[in-house]
Amino acid sequence: MSDIYVIGHKAPDTDTVCSAIVYAGIKGYKAATAGPINEETEFALKQFGVAAPEILENATGKTLVLVDHNEEKQRVDGAEKILAIIDHHKMNFNYPDPIFIHVEPVGSTATIISKMFPDEVKRNKAYAGLLLSAILSDTVIFKSPTTTEEDKKIASELAAVVGISDITKFGVDLKKAKASIKGKPVADVVHVDFKDYDFKGLKVGIGQTELVDIEEVYERKEEFVNYLNDLKNSKGYDMVIFMATDIVKEGTELFYSGDASKIEKAFNVKVSAPSVWLPGVLSRKKQVAPPVEKVYLEC
Ligand code: MN
Ligand code: MN
Repeated sequence: MSDIYVIGHKAPDTDTVCSAIVYAGIKGYKAATAGPINEETEFALKQFGVAAPEILENATGKTLVLVDHNEEKQRVDGAEKILAIIDHHKMNFNYPDPIFIHVEPVGSTATIISKMFPDEVKRNKAYAGLLLSAILSDTVIFKSPTTTEEDKKIASELAAVVGISDITKFGVDLKKAKASIKGKPVADVVHVDFKDYDFKGLKVGIGQTELVDIEEVYERKEEFVNYLNDLKNSKGYDMVIFMATDIVKEGTELFYSGDASKIEKAFNVKVSAPSVWLPGVLSRKKQVAPPVEKVYLEC
C-alpha cells in the first residue's frame, strides 16, 4: 500500500471524512482524519458499512493529499509535503512547488469527487452512499446558498445507486444524528466544527453547530458567551464567532467575542448584545467568513 495519506481539515466533518475515504480508496492511498469524527459522520459510515479512517494527529514526514480545505491554519499539524488538493473553498495557499489543484465552486468536495470518478463511484454502493451523505451535509439538504444545480443532480444519481428514494428524509436523519446539544459541554459544541482563519495577519476562529431547535442554545446563552470570551483571551484570537444555526427556522444566532463594530459592519446590523439573529444565514463559507474578512481587509 502506498504511503500517501488523503486527509481533510481539522475538526473533521462529513464531507471532509467521506471525500478522503473515497478518494483514497479509488487511488490506492490511505485515508486519515485530523481528529475524531462527529456523530453525523458516524451515522453515515454506519449506514454504509464503512469503518472510520485512522486518526493522524501529526502528519510530519507524510505525503498528503488535502481534501475539503487548503488554508494552512486548517491543516493537520505537521503537514509539509502536499501532493494535491481537491477543494471547494476559497484559496489561501502558498507552496514552493507546482502541485495538482482541483477547486470548483460547488456545494461539497464530494460533488467534485463524484464528477472525477463517475464509473468507480457508480460501481461501489458504499462510495456512492458516503458521497451522498457528504453532499447533503455540506449543503444542509440543499438549503444552503452554497448549493448548485450540480450538487442536486449528482446527489440524485448517487441516491439511485444506493437505492434511497427519499433523499430529504435521509438528509434529515443524517442531520439529526448530531443536532442536539443536550448534555454536551459548551467547549465540545463550539469545537466540533471549528475553523481558524488568518484575516490580514489576525487570528479569527469561527465555529458552527446545526440544530433543529435553537431553544437549546438560548437556554444556555450565558455559558456560550463566557466560553467564547475565555477562548478569545486565552488562545490569541482577535475575534471568535460561534454560529448556532437552526436548519428548520433557516437562520443563525451568531455569538461573537471581539469588536462589535466589526460584526455590525460585516452583517449590516445593529448589535446590542453578545449575539445577534441573522435570518437566512446557514453557511459559514459563503455568508459569514467572507463578510468578516472583508471588514478586516478594509480596516
Ligand atoms: Mn468541510
Ligand atoms: Mn466541504
